[in-house]
Amino acid sequence: MFTSLKGKTVIVTGASKGIGRGIARRFGEAGLNVLIVSRTLADGEKVANEIGPHASAFAADVSRTDDCLAMAAAALERYGSIDVLCANAGIFPAAKLGEMTEADFDHVIGTNLKSSFLSVSAVLPAMKAKKKGRIVLTSSITGPITGFPGWSHYGASKAGQLGFMRTAAIELAPWNITVNAVMPGNIHTEGMDGMGPDYIASMEASIPMKRLGSVSALFFASEEAGYITGQQMVIDGGQVLPESLMALQEMGTA
Ligand code: NAP
Repeated sequence: MFTSLKGKTVIVTGASKGIGRGIARRFGEAGLNVLIVSRTLADGEKVANEIGPHASAFAADVSRTDDCLAMAAAALERYGSIDVLCANAGIFPAAKLGEMTEADFDHVIGTNLKSSFLSVSAVLPAMKAKKKGRIVLTSSITGPITGFPGWSHYGASKAGQLGFMRTAAIELAPWNITVNAVMPGNIHTEGMDGMGPDYIASMEASIPMKRLGSVSALFFASEEAGYITGQQMVIDGGQVLPESLMALQEMGTA
């Protein structure tokens, strides 16, 4: 389908579970070396084992500068290059305004937004040296497009990633480094299971395609996407499209 990325190296943060695990597995199938990054090494190692010998795990907290630098150094030491970064790690603890503490806010912004800056900064020397790179941020529809009670900090972090992306894309264009974002809707992950069956059923009901989806970052990493930068792609089964509940009811149950 796309020009082969076989033999290239991708770092996927937050790849021990959920969307990151799916992204990492897809890159693994495409023949890339995959560095699986999460704070819990054992979980990352399980995913690396699922992918095969060209994948390995690294423990890092992406909200910390030193950890991001160590992550980039590990990719270079193990695989000799960093061609693609998927800055995907994220958390979504809920807290409504009035209950949300400053520490809650800082924790979500640090993990979801500051981590984009830190992980991108850490891989830049390697990408600039090669005059080539692909960076894919995992944002969300929540924040840039929609809202959900309890997630004002989360929404701010996800909208902030897109603001970061646009200027990063301009600054890094001279090195042929592209920066794009995927904006998932409701994706079926282990984390989503934790929200309970009622939440999942209500989300499925609000999606025109009536199902939760999956995400791949392969397109933005491809040779063919080399002239696309600073852009975002919503992957949500049409969730943000209905003007009102009536738009969904009009469709009935096909
Ligand atoms: P998940 O299943 O909870 O997985 C989160 C991953 O991030 C885990 O591997 C976790 O491992 C890692 N992680 C968390 N904090 C980290 C940190 N400080 N440093 C390094 N790794 C860290 O989450 P998910 O649902 O797949 O979400 C992944 C991304 O997609 C997030 O950015 C989220 O905002 C976005 N997203 C998800 C959905 C959805 O429907 N699931 C929708 C829109 C956007 P450790 O805990 O071991 O560190």
